Amino acid sequence: MAYGAKLATGYSKPYWDGLSKGVVRLQRCSDCGRCQDFPQGRCRHCLSTNLGWIDAAGTGALHTYSTVHRAPSPEFARHAPYVVGMVRLPEGVQLMARILVADESQLRLDMPVHAKPLKFPDDDWVLGFEPDAATAGRAD
Ligand SMILES: [Zn+2]
Repeated sequence: MAYGAKLATGYSKPYWDGLSKGVVRLQRCSDCGRCQDFPQGRCRHCLSTNLGWIDAAGTGALHTYSTVHRAPSPEFARHAPYVVGMVRLPEGVQLMARILVADESQLRLDMPVHAKPLKFPDDDWVLGFEPDAATAGRAD
């Protein structure tokens, strides 16, 4: 099963190209100004087709998370157990990504995180986030 950049389409290629350079790119509507993920042909807010791309700040807050013990496909089996989460970006987008911690006991809801794209051994990319150093492991 293909995953990551191997699934790139005309809509998503700028996203995957950015990720391979360490940058999170988001589609931004030139009419209403809102961002969206995942990439598609129309703005999900106003249905405009006048879409461009921006480089996101690469920061966010952890909305929720879960540990995957049984991978959904063989490509991810070697990584299990691993943590995935929903991250809220300051650009108004919430997206799913790998959360780069050894185990979820290091996490708390709303903690600040920053993007750290992962390159897998088979040369594909996956979006990851890791806790900001100042808050990692803090239990409050
Ligand atoms: Zn729009």
